[in-house]
Amino acid sequence: MDAKTEYAYILYETPAAHVARIVLNRPETANAQDTQFLYELNDAFERAAHDDDIRVIVLAANGKHFSSGHDLAEKDWYAHMADYDTVGTMCGFTCAGAERQMAREEEIYLGFSERWRNIPKPTIAAVQGKCIAGGLMLCWPCDIIIAADDASFVDPTVSFGVGGVEFFHHLWEVGARKAKEMLFTSDALSAEDAWRLGMVNQVVPRAELETAALAMAERIAQKSRFALKLTKKAINGAQDAQGRELAMQNAFHLHQLAHTHWLKLYDFLMDPTGLPEATRKALGIKLEEQ
Ligand code: ZN
Repeated sequence: MDAKTEYAYILYETPAAHVARIVLNRPETANAQDTQFLYELNDAFERAAHDDDIRVIVLAANGKHFSSGHDLAEKDWYAHMADYDTVGTMCGFTCAGAERQMAREEEIYLGFSERWRNIPKPTIAAVQGKCIAGGLMLCWPCDIIIAADDASFVDPTVSFGVGGVEFFHHLWEVGARKAKEMLFTSDALSAEDAWRLGMVNQVVPRAELETAALAMAERIAQKSRFALKLTKKAINGAQDAQGRELAMQNAFHLHQLAHTHWLKLYDFLMDPTGLPEATRKALGIKLEEQ
């Protein structure tokens, strides 16, 4: 195995011929995603995408949980944007107000998830434990999802006054009616629920997750690289022909409206009354309206 460890939060491995495995490696925070984490992850995806010897990419996670979502405890995240070479065509990172907020989310949330969805190689997510909010934005862009039997999937953002995560793919994953239920209630989908709805391809015992994902990757890696690319483009293109891209943009802009609303009321991105008191305290949020 050729393990690389030059990232702080991500491992890049080549566990089998023509297979890259990218591992989320911040288990002490249940793989919470801060700005550095996401830029490292994007770099690892691009590295696998640009390596012609790699045919299939596996996305896995170390620790009990796949990902707890965005790291709300990150400080100075607007200032941090200057530390990275941005990869999209957005601008306004150094501006004030909603402009910089939208630019940041367009780059590292919606933008990254769309980039990963469109990598011209099959991608397989191996998900265990909790996959919360921003966690969905890592596994949903993958072509295939293999879930451990202990996996659960939840987008609780409506409880915090925001109508869904930035990569608003719920409807394309579970259908409109179930998407509404999961958002309206903030209830989690079990691995079994997700399999029944067609959101995940396989459910396997937790101990077999790594082997199952690698076995799937090795089988696919035997196929023609070019045929795999064309097939992926055909299926993703069909979703886009149904209006997916435009619908995603619309939802993203509504999401920005929600952030702007709560920033104006509480100087915080979400409705803080929906957060547990301990979280509010940790983040230094006061409940008096501004
Ligand atoms: Zn947001």
